[in-house]
Amino acid sequence: MFASNAIGAFKLAQHVQNTDDYFSTAVRSSIALSSRWATSRGYATEAEEQDLVVIGGGVAGYVAAIKAGQEGLKVTCIEKRGTLGGTCLNVGCIPSKALLNNSHHYHTIKHDIAHRGIEVGEVKLNLDVMMKGKDTAVSSLTKGIEFLFKKNGVTYVKGTAAFSGEHEVKVNLSEGGEQTVIGKNILIATGSEATPFPGLEIDEQRIVSSTGALSLKKVPESMVVIGGGIIGLEMGSVWSRLGSKVTVVEFLGQIGGPGMDTEIAKSAQKILKKQGLEFKLGTKVMGGDASGEKIKLQVEAAKGGKEETVSFLLTKRFVHRLISGQLEADVVLVAIGRRPYTAGLGLENIGVETDDKGRIVIDQEYRTKIPHIRVVGDVTFGPMLAHKAEEEAVAVIEYIKKGHGHVNYGAIPSVMYTHPEVAWVGQNEQEVKASGVKYKIGTFPFSANSRAKTNADAEGMVKIIADAETDRILGAHIIGPGAGEMIAEAVLAIEYGASSEDIGRTSHAHPTLSEAFKEAAMATYSKAIHF
Ligand SMILES: Cc1cc2nc3c(=O)[nH]c(=O)nc-3n(C[C@H](O)[C@H](O)[C@H](O)COP(=O)(O)OP(=O)(O)OC[C@H]3O[C@@H](n4cnc5c(N)ncnc54)[C@H](O)[C@@H]3O)c2cc1C
Repeated sequence: MFASNAIGAFKLAQHVQNTDDYFSTAVRSSIALSSRWATSRGYATEAEEQDLVVIGGGVAGYVAAIKAGQEGLKVTCIEKRGTLGGTCLNVGCIPSKALLNNSHHYHTIKHDIAHRGIEVGEVKLNLDVMMKGKDTAVSSLTKGIEFLFKKNGVTYVKGTAAFSGEHEVKVNLSEGGEQTVIGKNILIATGSEATPFPGLEIDEQRIVSSTGALSLKKVPESMVVIGGGIIGLEMGSVWSRLGSKVTVVEFLGQIGGPGMDTEIAKSAQKILKKQGLEFKLGTKVMGGDASGEKIKLQVEAAKGGKEETVSFLLTKRFVHRLISGQLEADVVLVAIGRRPYTAGLGLENIGVETDDKGRIVIDQEYRTKIPHIRVVGDVTFGPMLAHKAEEEAVAVIEYIKKGHGHVNYGAIPSVMYTHPEVAWVGQNEQEVKASGVKYKIGTFPFSANSRAKTNADAEGMVKIIADAETDRILGAHIIGPGAGEMIAEAVLAIEYGASSEDIGRTSHAHPTLSEAFKEAAMATYSKAIHF
């Protein structure tokens, strides 16, 4: 802790020195330009120089633009979608959570309400109304950002940006025509797109990405989800609750992606299976045929499955027939991940590099090799999460304005908004084990938590991993009701270097679900009381 602070202070001193030079130049040029700005406030006109030009109005871009406005920078944000908020607000976090919430209500009323003493008549789904509710949430939030732009003096240009020089961006305006925007600093925040599946052409009707899965016109009889990561499981849950027969095909041996703790992933799979989702783990989709009424997918055991490999060598033809198969579905959701999006941005015009995964290469201060061009969000390194993008957006403006910024990548939470939710922060057990650090674990089941019991919603557990010698919390993993809210406490604990005893000795209101977190902490350094 002290060591990293000392390094931080040293780095900070260095940055301040560097930016002093930068800022004295910046201030000089801004004085020279101030008369030009005074006549053109509010609209970016041809060749008007901005302190900052942001390309992309997603979470990374719009948060950076607002923060820049708050810091007194002249800022223009260019967005081609027609609405602000990017993937998250338009076709990601927000619409998916709207559908998850309402499909959960539908499912609960249909299957879980009678034993709570509430009798209802016939329960019917009105998918149109559910979709309209989702669209209303999206449009009110995206318009809210336009309001925040105005409030913070951010100029919003609707169009597609491409670099025409190191300080110059040409915008193909959405309403026709072209505009040049010049920036002392330029921030790339162009986000990501769904990774396509070779051989399966996405039409967003029958073969869909998450975007199509958010807007299906009717509940498909059957759906195959390719990819058992968070997006696949969330969307699979939605359509399963609404009546679809959902099969999830996952290449790896566990669901939830590699970040999810294996014990928690197994528990999540068990619970989701009880809700009706089918799983084919360690299985890969080889190809598909959408020419018939149903889409046909060829599946095979994934490579690396030990048994299959050995048998395959022994009797190639026999095993091939045994392990390969065909799945049929009305709708196929391709959810195999997302990839950075830089198409048409003209990076080649300025020589900015991407790595083999398409991520724009940056240093620790988010700078490309052209130092005044920086990058944040999904289009560069790190987890593709909205709150990670948001942290980086604030930090990058602080780097530009003050010369120092801060994001703790060890304390970025992940949440899967299924029911129950799954949330975690820090390292999972397999990672801690691999690191060689001696550790201890405390767990507490929601079945022993009074509030969860009272709510008759008591599946899941809290699992805390702490350093065996220092008791410092290394990771927290929750599957259970409200896990996505509860994880904030664990994030704070990790951010401040708390021990499990710190949490265990902190009073938690009774009866609350968060008492399960306290009890898991108690179980880590001593014993839980209620289990
Ligand atoms: C279905 C789904 C559910 C998700 N749920 C969650 C969740 O619950 N929690 C979470 O944290 N994350 C979630 N995510 C991930 C989250 O949406 C992303 O991490 C986040 O949107 C990244 O923000 P960004 O600003 O980097 O990129 P984006 O949101 O992709 O924004 C980039 C913007 O740049 C614009 N753009 C691109 N190129 C240009 C150009 N040349 N000129 C002008 N504009 C351009 C694009 O139109 C886009 O609007 C989800 C994603 C999906 C797909």
